[in-house]
Amino acid sequence: MIDCHIHTNTSEDSKMTVMDACKQAVECGLKYICFTNHHEIPEMKNSNFNFSLDGNKFLDYKKAVEQARKEFPELKISFGCEIGHMEEYKDEIKEFLDEHDFDFVLGSIHWMVLPDGKADLVSDRAIASMEKHGRDAYMKVYARSIVESINSGLYDSISHIGMFTRFIPDFDFSNYDKELNDIVEAFKNSKTGIEINTWRGKFPKGYWNPPSTLVKAVFNTGNPILTVGSDAHETGSVGKGIKEVLQFAKTCGYEKVAFFEKRKPLFLDIDKLI
Ligand SMILES: [Zn+2]
Ligand SMILES: [Zn+2]
Repeated sequence: MIDCHIHTNTSEDSKMTVMDACKQAVECGLKYICFTNHHEIPEMKNSNFNFSLDGNKFLDYKKAVEQARKEFPELKISFGCEIGHMEEYKDEIKEFLDEHDFDFVLGSIHWMVLPDGKADLVSDRAIASMEKHGRDAYMKVYARSIVESINSGLYDSISHIGMFTRFIPDFDFSNYDKELNDIVEAFKNSKTGIEINTWRGKFPKGYWNPPSTLVKAVFNTGNPILTVGSDAHETGSVGKGIKEVLQFAKTCGYEKVAFFEKRKPLFLDIDKLI
């Protein structure tokens, strides 16, 4: 089994150590894992949170992963990060990635600039933002942000598309064909793949991200890069839901899932993983 989206204690939102995550990964039968700690340039500028991987944080994180590779030879461990994409910080993100030797880089829309010109978090705050601006306007900005993240060419895979459904489970994507088509078009001929993220937020029976229609449509573009991840921030979530999404991916046509080393995809047979 494989899990390519795991957070550890370099970020303020996780207390899990790299070692504890590896122990759990072995226990639940994972063979391939990737750590994807946050690096958020907007966070550094706009809030009191610290989700940056600058300076010693990067070095501590890298050292912990190198140590884990020695202690868990049965695991293939990839060293990655999850970047919050915002178009206005594209150059700074590129500079950061040029200076750091990650195996895998996830691109995510965690912040976006709303129609009132203010940046806000794509989180439970989406509920208030949608009320204020309307769902149509919100979705338009969100889809454009996702397209920008794909077109930037900075990322190996785009994470949890539609993550606001973690907080708004009744959101109906079938009203947004144009926006979803724009995203699908961007994936066509792109070297950036799509992630299926198994975290279902507060609604255990809710959706994973992205919506299933989008995964199917991206497969049909011929873009072969699919990654899967639990978005675990604590040990109980490592590897959670992966078998189910890999089975779902097969129904979309995928036979292989990607694992990255030195920013290059290694395609693994789904049948051999589940
Ligand atoms: Zn994220
Ligand atoms: Zn994440």
